[in-house]
Amino acid sequence: MVAMTLPNHASAEKVACDLGLGDRSRADGCPGALTFHHAEDGAVGRVRFPGGSMSVTQFTQFAKVSAELGDGDIHLTTRGNVQIRGISDEAAFTRAVLDAGFVPSIPHDKIRNIIVSPLSDLEELVAELDQALLANDELAGLSGRTLFGIDKGDGAILAQQPDFGVYGPSKQLILGGQLTTHVLNNPAAELAEHALKWQRARGEKWRVAEDPSFNTYDTAEFEAQEPTHIGWFDREDGTVSLGAGLPFGIITAKVAELLCAVEKPVQVTPWHSVLVHDLDEGEAEAVAKVLAPMGLIFDAHSPKLLVTACTGLPGCAKSRDDVRRDALQLMASGATERTHFSGCERRCGHPRVEYTDYLALGDGKYEVSTR
Ligand code: SF4
Repeated sequence: MVAMTLPNHASAEKVACDLGLGDRSRADGCPGALTFHHAEDGAVGRVRFPGGSMSVTQFTQFAKVSAELGDGDIHLTTRGNVQIRGISDEAAFTRAVLDAGFVPSIPHDKIRNIIVSPLSDLEELVAELDQALLANDELAGLSGRTLFGIDKGDGAILAQQPDFGVYGPSKQLILGGQLTTHVLNNPAAELAEHALKWQRARGEKWRVAEDPSFNTYDTAEFEAQEPTHIGWFDREDGTVSLGAGLPFGIITAKVAELLCAVEKPVQVTPWHSVLVHDLDEGEAEAVAKVLAPMGLIFDAHSPKLLVTACTGLPGCAKSRDDVRRDALQLMASGATERTHFSGCERRCGHPRVEYTDYLALGDGKYEVSTR
């Protein structure tokens, strides 16, 4: 791997890339339960579980769908969604996820993107917001890129730049990825109202940040902390939640099988990790003992958590290289700073905090910059 150091990219370019700016006259290309992204390794279908929470039954059913209709793995997205790659029979996938009840409203399939601070006990608010979105037919017209975020007050979710969200005990509104001074009294209903106002005003725009004039509130400063999601967590009710990092956000078929056998609720996060809840101490020890040798990362300080990569070759035809191969090499040699490898300028799945950017040029060469 040859690395060349280049100056930082211009901020306008960064914003454009962060927002995925491009042709807005077309619909967003986000996959869903009924619409697919067509990659080199087959169709990609995505299912939204608000807050990333999957019951035992839902996780088991989803793993079964991947085993029967996809590549067997479960792929986590940076929006806390789950997707299946290598789908050969799209109609069968749609039937399976509809039959499983994963899509409460077909028109709203792609807009239920709700991320929440892990271990925050904010599930009730997630459910209320989901219901408020589902209750409004007009909101089904939002772009699939729209992101809702519920931040417990550490800024980790806010750093993901949700279009609409609520922050901390102060219940401050998040709008267009910015913290505002505006306080929400009834967050679920009011976030849905803001989203409706945006849907009526947005024209062909996908994300609120594309129209700075939409946010008329004063903005507030915040400092994002590292999210708390890896390791052993004793909960107030006496149970244990165990959080594990997943290289490239992949729950392999074998790991999925083992998680199904544990029969506990699972929560996926926007940081390529999974939490297993409601464990007793013995179960938590057993889960960590079995899954750690399979590559799951239970140490919040592991340097492996610093390295991420887009799909790259062979899964994505746009890629100039097998970027995961090179990311694995860096993981093995010990990364010291957050680093993301991308096969092209879209930089899919890049971190939302400052990172070292490896952009593939082909033949193992990379353009390196800080973003
Ligand atoms: S960043 Fe480019 S190469 Fe990588 S997955 Fe996205 S589109 Fe493909």
